[in-house]
Amino acid sequence: MQTNFSSAALAEPHLAESEKILRTCVHCGFCTATCPTYLLLGDELDSPRGRIYMIKDMLEGGKPATKEVVKHVDRCLSCLSCMTTCPSGVHYMHLVDHARAHIELTYKRDFTDRLLRALLANILPYPRRFRLALAGALLAKPLRFIIAALPFVGARMGAMIDLAPARFPSLPLTEAAPAVASPRRGRVAILEGCAQPALKPSINAAARRVLARHGVDVIRPKGEGCCGALVHHMGREAEAFAFARRNVDAWCAEIAGGLDAILITASGCGTTIKDYGFMLRDDPAYAEKAARVSALAKDITEYAAGLDALPRARETGQTIAYHSACSMQHGQKLGDQPKRLLRAAGFVVKEVPEGHICCGSAGVYNILQPEIAGRLRERKAANIAKTKPQAIATGNIGCITQIGLATATPIVHTIELLDWAQGGPLPEGLAGAGFPA
Ligand code: SF4
Ligand code: SF4
Repeated sequence: MQTNFSSAALAEPHLAESEKILRTCVHCGFCTATCPTYLLLGDELDSPRGRIYMIKDMLEGGKPATKEVVKHVDRCLSCLSCMTTCPSGVHYMHLVDHARAHIELTYKRDFTDRLLRALLANILPYPRRFRLALAGALLAKPLRFIIAALPFVGARMGAMIDLAPARFPSLPLTEAAPAVASPRRGRVAILEGCAQPALKPSINAAARRVLARHGVDVIRPKGEGCCGALVHHMGREAEAFAFARRNVDAWCAEIAGGLDAILITASGCGTTIKDYGFMLRDDPAYAEKAARVSALAKDITEYAAGLDALPRARETGQTIAYHSACSMQHGQKLGDQPKRLLRAAGFVVKEVPEGHICCGSAGVYNILQPEIAGRLRERKAANIAKTKPQAIATGNIGCITQIGLATATPIVHTIELLDWAQGGPLPEGLAGAGFPA
């Protein structure tokens, strides 16, 4: 794609990077075929190519974002399906991240939108506040239909209430876990993060047990927290970078003592942490440290794939529909490892039709765009049902929550199934689904 940025504009590193990305697009339109919003809405402006043109026009002209641009960029899920399809290697993720930051700086959203976004940005990344908000959402569940009917904010408040679990989750286990097998094979950190330990602490607990059985020590670095993805996807770049710097400091303090990997059990967070090196590339104090952290970041299944198989302690063979989160398959290009691990543990793994299409979770997308997210969720649940599974496995808490709203089939994290197969406790929801305790 031809671009016409002024040389003054290109002196700004963000613009120079985006110009490089724009120039790789050859307008072929292959990406439109796999874009969930184009699939649902059929509007070129809701396709990757249409968004790329709009972003080019906005950035090239140094223009503030318009209502029209904001509408179509907001509808983008950041699912990155377009990046997997693009034959030209267009780095859409970095381009849309830049566009979102530009929108945040140059566009004044209406009051309810600003209020909702500020609430999400000031609650979700903070575990204590998030747990309090969950308690509030639980209490509000009986009033859900009244709240959802409120003007302006009703649909999005209703979506928030729906996403809260039906009962309050137990407190997460966060202490360090020593290896129980010898010889000792490694020393790793597991990201605790923000929302996941509040919603489903059993995921990291299962990961700790699996690692301990393989002789891997798990440490808990002081000071780590939210990876910054939630605010980054809302264009709040400064906040996202602050979260990234805090985590880089926490992990670098442990790297000195020997750290083999930084493990992540939510693929959405993994995609962001693997991008810290890029996000902080222009920060002289952090560029090198952030790149080191990104190089150590691994999804739990990516790391587990490198460990020796352990003897099975359970009778497996159950049919599992594996839902590959967008951040797993498109963001981190980890399409096969989780399925291979499940098969090696004895499960029958089914491919979900339209597996490349997002379930509509996408961070806080299902709260901010409940209508599109709801349609994608129903479509995903219907596709999963075609495989007639006994359970669904995935690697991202957002997908677990989102898909769980549209299916009666139990949905768990891949590592919970692997832990159970090795003798761990039965994951919640699997009793009665053909999984012996
Ligand atoms: S597939 Fe790639 S090169 Fe083709 S229009 Fe889409 S982003 Fe551009
Ligand atoms: S990230 Fe997903 S929703 Fe956004 S343009 Fe690409 S394919 Fe479409």
